[in-house]
Amino acid sequence: MDFSCVEGCSKCCIEREYYPSIKFGKIGVLVLPDEKQRIENLAEKHSIQATILPRIGVSEKNDKPDKILAYQLMGKDPNGNTCPFLDMESNDRSPHGGYKCKIYPDRPLACRAYPLVESSPPTLDPKCKFCEKCSAVDGNIHAETESLAEIKIKMETSAKYLWRYATGIGDPSDKDKMETGWFLI
Ligand code: SF4
Ligand code: SF4
Repeated sequence: MDFSCVEGCSKCCIEREYYPSIKFGKIGVLVLPDEKQRIENLAEKHSIQATILPRIGVSEKNDKPDKILAYQLMGKDPNGNTCPFLDMESNDRSPHGGYKCKIYPDRPLACRAYPLVESSPPTLDPKCKFCEKCSAVDGNIHAETESLAEIKIKMETSAKYLWRYATGIGDPSDKDKMETGWFLI
């Protein structure tokens, strides 16, 4: 079945998840190091407050990361949801009727790859609303496949240690369960 966004859906630009657990807080949209400055410039251009935190770090010693492999664009709500670039104020809608992305032509690679999470076999994120009716997809995912491949290439590393950054951002009721800072994976 071909992939196409569900009419009126904006779920992937709004809902953020705890990953890999509540301890790490909610994650944001993956932003590669070579995308970070561009996304910050776009935020400034649109007068948007965008918080970009580290996501994955690498190191040769197990004391602290010495290089950032990926950053993350956090949601603007106190609970970590809602991408700051999602235009929920205007009456404009995307071709499938969802809220529009203010930086759609310049959006991060991660947004271009979504909802594809694996390419062989093509696997969609089960949280994508399309998956409620179909989890197997075999068409209309060429651009997503290329973007996912590009992310994988850019995130390849031979570093000895991998680190994950705990954001400390999430639902207020989960505050006591969340941590902040780097943890060895
Ligand atoms: S990719 Fe999935 S979750 Fe995102 S807008 Fe399309 S149908 Fe909705
Ligand atoms: S940058 Fe655009 S496409 Fe990506 S999550 Fe934000 S609003 Fe959605």
